[in-house]
Amino acid sequence: MSAPRGLLTEAARRLAAAGVESPRVDAELLLCAVLGTTRTALLTLGEVPPGPAARFAALVEERAARVPLQHLTGTAPFRHVELAVGPGVFVPRPETELIAGWVLDRIAGLTAPTVVDLGTGSGAIALAVANEHPGARVAAVERDAGAIEWTRHNAATRAAAGDTPVEVLAGDMTDPRLLTALDGTVDVVVSNPPYVPDGARLPQEVADHDPPLALWGGPDGLDVVRGLLGTAARLLRPGGWLGIEHADQQGSSLPELVRRHGRWADVADHRDLAGRPRYTTARLSGGQ
Ligand code: GLN
Repeated sequence: MSAPRGLLTEAARRLAAAGVESPRVDAELLLCAVLGTTRTALLTLGEVPPGPAARFAALVEERAARVPLQHLTGTAPFRHVELAVGPGVFVPRPETELIAGWVLDRIAGLTAPTVVDLGTGSGAIALAVANEHPGARVAAVERDAGAIEWTRHNAATRAAAGDTPVEVLAGDMTDPRLLTALDGTVDVVVSNPPYVPDGARLPQEVADHDPPLALWGGPDGLDVVRGLLGTAARLLRPGGWLGIEHADQQGSSLPELVRRHGRWADVADHRDLAGRPRYTTARLSGGQ
């Protein structure tokens, strides 16, 4: 039997030495995953039996090899939902919760708004919107054949939990034929597109485990966004809203690109909780 305090201190030291960014929290969350308990409950935990202690040690070694924490626990929290994640799908980030909140603010008060999430990955934004605005009709688009298996799994889990079902669609956000049945009717188009500039240095967890299709966006990171603007302008109703997440360095270049596209009003950029430029929003010209 091992005392949880000692196990955690030892594990945190091992993870810190391996360069893991939040070693103590990761150690605690791995122990929680093994024991099926919460971080609060760890405070009053008795001894850890040898079986779970060995499983914990193995997970700590994998984390030290920089496998993402969420791949080891199998889940990522996002607003009020838990998403299944693993190899083949982009792990949703906490900072993306903000743009999902922005979508919810835009549709607050609308009985049956239509929302399209382009490049949905695990389904995070789409499923959070459906979860928090039950009347919303949400379509989630993903081009990566590996990732969409996770989207479908998560959508089925949320629907089984009672959320309004999200329509999951295989497709490319730059395709002029995508979702043409919705042309001119959508209230909000939202996207966390691949926006990392080619050649950027990424943490090992991201570079080795997030799917390349979800990350890389060409020389300035904005190649996919250029194609997405036309799709969004086609899908939205006049006055409908577009929100696009972007990289720290794109807080001027992305709003500028949207302005130059010529179809948009009220172009604005928003910061995340760490104060970093994080997403651009705009309204399709021609409505009130
Ligand atoms: N924010 C992601 C990262 O930190 C990149 C996500 C994206 O390209 N959409 O790696």
